[in-house]
Parts: sequence; C-alpha cells; structure tokens
Amino acid sequence: MLEWGGSAWALPYAVRLVFTAFYMSLDSLHAPAAPPIADTDIASLRQRLQEARHVLVLTGAGASAESGVPTFRDAQTGYWAQFSPEEMASEAGFLAHPQRVWDWYQYRRQLISQVLPNAGHVALAQWQACHPDRMTLVTQNVDGLHQRAGSAPVLCLHGNLMENRWLLPPKPCCDARFTEGDAPPQCPGCGNYLRPGVVWFGEALPHAALQQAQDAAKACDLMLVIGTSGHVYPAAGLAHTAARGGAHVVVINPEPTALDGVADICLRAPSAQLLPQLLSAQRSPH
Ligand code: NAD
Repeated sequence: MLEWGGSAWALPYAVRLVFTAFYMSLDSLHAPAAPPIADTDIASLRQRLQEARHVLVLTGAGASAESGVPTFRDAQTGYWAQFSPEEMASEAGFLAHPQRVWDWYQYRRQLISQVLPNAGHVALAQWQACHPDRMTLVTQNVDGLHQRAGSAPVLCLHGNLMENRWLLPPKPCCDARFTEGDAPPQCPGCGNYLRPGVVWFGEALPHAALQQAQDAAKACDLMLVIGTSGHVYPAAGLAHTAARGGAHVVVINPEPTALDGVADICLRAPSAQLLPQLLSAQRSPH
C-alpha cells in the first residue's frame, strides 16, 4: 500500500520546475525567416569569449537536437502527441497512468542510448577543458550527452534520464534488485514504485546544482543561452539574473525564444553548427 507525503506544490516557486507559458505555442513556427549571422557578430563574440572573466552556459533540449534527440515538443509526436508534457512529466501524471509514463521514459532511454554527442557538445567540452576556471556549464537536459562529450563538471538541473529512484522515501524492504513487474517496477514488500531520476513539473530542483548555477549567473560577465525555449523555470531565470548583473547575454537558437527580450544578441542558428565556429582554438588570456 502506498503512502503519500507532502505535496511538491508546497515548495517555493523559485526552486520547483514550472512552465511560464503554454508550452506548445505555435507562435515561433510563424516567425519571419532569420537573417544570416554576420561574420562580424561571430568575430565580436569570439573576442568577448576571449576576454570574459567568467562564462555561464545554459543548454536546453535544442543542444541535443542535432544528435537526434527530440526536443520536448518534437518528442511528443506520433502516439505520444495526444498527451501533454504535464501528463508525461509530473507525479500526478505518473500516478494516473504509471505504465504509460514509464513506457514513454523507456522509449526515450532507448533512443538516447543510440545517439552520440554532436559537434556543439564537443566544442563546449573542449572550451571548458581549456578554460576550466572560466566556464560554468548548466544543462536542463537529462540525456547525459555533455558528459559523454567530456564536459566536467556539468550542473544538471533536471536530473538524469538513465537513472531510477524511488517514488516515495524507500523503506528497508525497498531494494531495486528485487522489484517486480515491468511497468514500472514495484517493491514487492510495500508497493513503492521506481520512477525515472528526472525532475518533474512541480518538483524541487537539486539544491546544490541550482545554487551553484545561480551563483554563476550573478558572477558571470558573459552568458550563452543555447537551445532552450526559455519557458521552464527556474532555469530560464538564470538569464534574467545574469542580465540584471550586467552580463552580456547571447541566445543561440534557430527560433525565437521567451528569453530573446533579455538577450543582447540572438544568433539564429543550430548550435552544432555555430558552437564550433565560436569556440574553436580559443586560448586562455589568463
Ligand atoms: P524545449 O523543447 O522547450 O525547447 C527546445 C528549444 O531548442 C526550442 O527553442 C528550439 O527552437 C531549439 N532548437 C531546436 N533545434 C535546435 C538546434 N539545432 N540548435 C539550437 N536550438 C535548437 O526545451 P527546453 O527549453 O530544454 O525545456 C524543456 C524541458 O524538456 C526541459 O526541462 C528539459 O529537461 C526537457 N527535455 C530534455 C531533453 C534532453 O535531455 N535532450 C529532451 C527533451 C526535453
């Protein structure tokens, strides 16, 4: 028999995962074609990267799109399109339909096990390795592709798709080796479910990672916001914090985003194409 603790919605707004807008807005699909990126924009950003004291990089699902990992909107195609993100990524959705939600995560796990980091992940990892004290890498992605490209450390705000954890605080009988059933596995003693190790809507983000990301947002003088729609908070709030602190904020995304208003410049390009151009062969001046 399952017992339920306090509701995730009792958490303060600033630490739990929320959407600020109807996620599947089609506005961006009707946006005018983006102008080509000028060589001078690339050159001036390369100069800023060279001179920046500290660079904060925030990535979202778009950073993995060219690896073949669907963004949240793209992931809900075909059979899954009939369900909202909240139905597939919340505790309430899981409790209502554990099998459906588990199957969706198993499908995504299988997909991610078959893809590779792209040139954007690699360019970020190489730059981070060359400038270990000048870059903080924060991701909303749960696919582990930054880590597989060699980035370390990576502040993962939304968990790890490949891990499981107990839905309720585990009792002595809860041992993942002895779970029963496929969808999802349950403790034979108390019925506790295993669930994906990701942060669902309404849940708290990992405290230490969020704190380090917010500290970096306050301290950075350059922020790259890569492949995120900017609708999911508190991650999107990092760009506002950086802008308020006087950092130069750059959005890299082929489509308009909810964070364009706080950006100093929006570079409308796919990240796996643009990041190698921006980050290649940059030596530290420090
Ligand atoms: P999102 O799906 O809301 O937005 C994706 C953004 O990526 C869009 O703005 C899109 O225009 C942009 N994009 C698409 N292709 C791109 C490319 N080649 N280069 C750069 N940008 C590109 O994703 P989000 O903002 O990260 O937020 C949604 C939530 O979904 C997050 O919580 C995240 O954890 C989760 N999610 C993660 C993954 C993953 O781990 N790969 C995949 C899907 C969803």
